[in-house]
Amino acid sequence: MKLLEGKVALITGATRGIGKGIAEAYVAQGAKIAFTYRSSAEKAKAFEDELKAAGGECISFQADAADFAATEGVIKGIIEAYGRLDIIVNNAGITKDTLMLRMDLEKWQSVLDTNLNSVFYTTKAAMRTLLKQRSGSIINISSVVGLQGNAGQANYAASKAGIIGFTKSVAREIGSRGIRANVVAPGFIATEMTAELPEKELATWLEGIPLKRAGSPEDVAQLCVFLGSDMSTYITGQVMNVDGGMVMA
Ligand code: NAP
Repeated sequence: MKLLEGKVALITGATRGIGKGIAEAYVAQGAKIAFTYRSSAEKAKAFEDELKAAGGECISFQADAADFAATEGVIKGIIEAYGRLDIIVNNAGITKDTLMLRMDLEKWQSVLDTNLNSVFYTTKAAMRTLLKQRSGSIINISSVVGLQGNAGQANYAASKAGIIGFTKSVAREIGSRGIRANVVAPGFIATEMTAELPEKELATWLEGIPLKRAGSPEDVAQLCVFLGSDMSTYITGQVMNVDGGMVMA
């Protein structure tokens, strides 16, 4: 039996990296999916074709996660196409790292808009649909940096910590309506986002990981499958790390 058979999922920011891994795993587990991207239209088309060729049902939307009107359009498009929405994976995210002394307002605001406001936007835009269905699973991709902080990432850490408080509040607010909300906090995952780290910094990260390797998008995707599925119907308001043991509470 496929774990996500009959479910409709939205994954934001899925043309590469973790979002792409989640989209692939969701389709493999029988979900109908919609995914978004901001700029990489060609990649999105190729990915959509690839999923369809493998027998998946898929639609994509060019929509900036930091734009509420665009997000409302995505939710409307999904309901028009599929008639329901069961799982939202808020994955789209960016970094604009710099030390505080050099952090200008744009670096602060754009990271907060894309990483944190976006999570509010999709949740808000989908709320009536989820409440009417009396079911749903919201999965918000944070980061271990949101738990621990990181020098040079005050903007990113604030956005990822904000996701945790937001998710716990939503979980408390709508749990009685059968809707769950959880946070996935990846550690060091090999994607384009982390590809440009200098060798020395990479070695320092790996040193602090008990499993002694970087994670893969698939490692994160497996947890997202579980949290989207009916295997996790009694789990809400939780923060789950996928980090090879880097952070232990
Ligand atoms: P990535 O390789 O840079 O991919 C990001 C994806 O998000 C791309 O498909 C990108 O598409 C899309 N995106 C970016 N800004 C967007 C926007 N404003 N609207 C819509 N889509 C947007 O990043 P990743 O490493 O896979 O990270 C995915 C998520 O995991 C992020 O939230 C990140 O913070 C989190 N995370 C990553 C790591 C890690 O080690 N990689 C660790 C912890 C948490 P376009 O290029 O078309 O915009």
